[in-house]
Amino acid sequence: MEHRIPRFTWAGVPDDAEVSTHPFSTEDGLGLSLTRFRRADCDDIVLLLHGLTMASDMFIMPEHRNLVTCLLDEGFTDVWALDFRMSNRFPYDLETHRFTLDDCALFDHPAAMAELRKHVGDRRVHVVAHCLGSVTYMMSLCAGLVDDVASMVCNSVALTPRVPLWAKYKLAYGPAMAEYVLGFSFLDPRFGDAPVLTRGWALSRFMSLFHRECDVRACHMLSFMWGAGRPALYEHGNLDDATHQRIADICGGVGVHYYRHVHKMVEAGRAVKYNRKEPRHADLPDDYLAGATEVQTPLLLLTGDRNKAFADSNVICHRWLSERMPGLHELQILPGYGHMDPFLGKNAHADVFPTIIDFLKRKAA
Ligand SMILES: [Zn+2]
Repeated sequence: MEHRIPRFTWAGVPDDAEVSTHPFSTEDGLGLSLTRFRRADCDDIVLLLHGLTMASDMFIMPEHRNLVTCLLDEGFTDVWALDFRMSNRFPYDLETHRFTLDDCALFDHPAAMAELRKHVGDRRVHVVAHCLGSVTYMMSLCAGLVDDVASMVCNSVALTPRVPLWAKYKLAYGPAMAEYVLGFSFLDPRFGDAPVLTRGWALSRFMSLFHRECDVRACHMLSFMWGAGRPALYEHGNLDDATHQRIADICGGVGVHYYRHVHKMVEAGRAVKYNRKEPRHADLPDDYLAGATEVQTPLLLLTGDRNKAFADSNVICHRWLSERMPGLHELQILPGYGHMDPFLGKNAHADVFPTIIDFLKRKAA
């Protein structure tokens, strides 16, 4: 397949920003990394967190005016992006594994913050997070594993995951069906490129029967993998054509076990531990949301009003938090936007990023 834009490119980073990578390890033995985009020293550091199967690349896309560029231009001149175990820059999503969101909360984010602090000292750190990057970082905050965050922006979902009914069925039955019936330990938007008559090819062709809204097979697979809609993860009209064509570069394959944890949270209506009897997670709370009232970090909860992946999760989360901590947290609903186009959209720099930057500036004051 031909791509106009290379994968894992830094071409979207402004020329005058110095880029450096900072590898580190987790306690359970994974290698992860932070990428720094530095134009000058500044008092307020911004840390960006991708969602499941995405990567730091979602913030430096060259085909639009990306978030890193906007932050650097607005005075946040020392921006960092984390690639944690859910990143498609690493092989972990596609390996045989039984990782849950608890592993990200316990092992990834605290280790990332420790590495970040080595370089930025005690300067204020603000976090901007998408999807399960947001959920898992909020879990770390609620568990008291990170406590030095000045403010946080959570897109699409935070501590009260809710999904459309069809997505709930998929989360409930999909993992067992995939692993034990169809023989897939992971699902990949690139199945459309699989050799003819292989199982991946057949699944992709079958899914495309239900998606006549466009001719990008990876887009159809992603709508099968997440949410409920045609397409499920964004509004087509919000994406640059280059982004739509290379959507499998931006959203990779994923092991189906993560779905089980998301399903458990959807059933509970809140962020909960996957397995209360798991010894390595003994130090984590069974119910993360219960710990949210101890978190003093102000949140901006963002969601598109066409969010077909996590529905009104952040509206519900804002209501829950505001009833207990009035005035601390904010909610912004983005008209015409879905789940991930608030970051990927061709007009996000005009429609969405100013809201994020205004919040960060107020919290930096
Ligand atoms: Zn499409």
